[in-house]
Amino acid sequence: MTEVKRKCVGCGQIKNREEMIKITRRNTDGAIVINPDLKTFGRSAYLCYNHDCIKKSFIKNRLSKVLKTQVNDELKGQLIDR
Ligand SMILES: [Zn+2]
Repeated sequence: MTEVKRKCVGCGQIKNREEMIKITRRNTDGAIVINPDLKTFGRSAYLCYNHDCIKKSFIKNRLSKVLKTQVNDELKGQLIDR
């Protein structure tokens, strides 16, 4: 099986998909979903499972730019609390 590598929006490191948080802007309604199921399609961003990367991804709206939608602090809270 080939390993799927993704780049973290926070630190820019490339890691295995399984080691990262996936955040998807769902195509159907534009909702932001954290670690969506396989039936969820949309533009996605990836983050390491650590608070630094989560916080960094909100600096200068990086995550918003990757997802091409405005993400808010509520999402940040959800990511940090998980
Ligand atoms: Zn990272």
